[in-house]
Amino acid sequence: MRKTLVAANWKMHGTKAFAGQLLAELNSGLKSGDCSAQVVICPPFPYLHLVAESAQDQLALGAQNLSEQVSGAYTGEVSAEMLLDCGARYVIVGHSERRSLYGESSALVAAKFAAAKSAGLIPILCVGESLEEREAGKTLDVVAEQIRAVVALGQADTWQNAVVAYEPVWAIGTGKTASPEQAQEVHQFIRQQLGETGAQVQILYGGSVKAGNAAELFAMADIDGALVGGASLNAEEFISICRAA
Ligand code: PGA
Repeated sequence: MRKTLVAANWKMHGTKAFAGQLLAELNSGLKSGDCSAQVVICPPFPYLHLVAESAQDQLALGAQNLSEQVSGAYTGEVSAEMLLDCGARYVIVGHSERRSLYGESSALVAAKFAAAKSAGLIPILCVGESLEEREAGKTLDVVAEQIRAVVALGQADTWQNAVVAYEPVWAIGTGKTASPEQAQEVHQFIRQQLGETGAQVQILYGGSVKAGNAAELFAMADIDGALVGGASLNAEEFISICRAA
């Protein structure tokens, strides 16, 4: 049985005061034992410490990015070891905003995935197609290529202690969610691509997940939770999503 996981991707939003307030609301809203999902909070780097210090036990800490390098003269970069040192257990890799706005190739994403794993962090690997790619019927090809780049690392235990998030680019921050059936089709395909350990891997859906559509997505056989952007900045909305899981 795979446990449901809901991850909050705060992106580059908020202030220290905002983060503190949101966290206080999540602490009180998620403690009553009525949320059986694993919950991960991925704040911007400067607030990792704040979340690590004040989040209750049920909330795990994650980061939104990391360097593929171990340490050295890489100005502005943050290593897997540093994240671990700050209390993080998870890290998002290959978010579509990193791929499209910061030119991260599938090979670089794979190197970041490997860096996270070798330090003992759990990578949340994001994959997904653009609207143009979906309309051209290339969804499964695109996703397969993004997964293959990680498989090409040749690690025996690639998908152990790793999470995959299917995030169709056209659904991110647009208010347009993939239908549960559209998402399930891709999730099932991803699971097949993961090989023998695929059955144990948590595959999250991301892209305009809200309190109002979470339950129907979570009801699908291969959807094991969500990576939530916009709705994770609103405590009430995010708590409802966690409770639906
Ligand atoms: P969204 O973002 O929930 O705002 O669509 C999801 C994500 O980018 O991870």
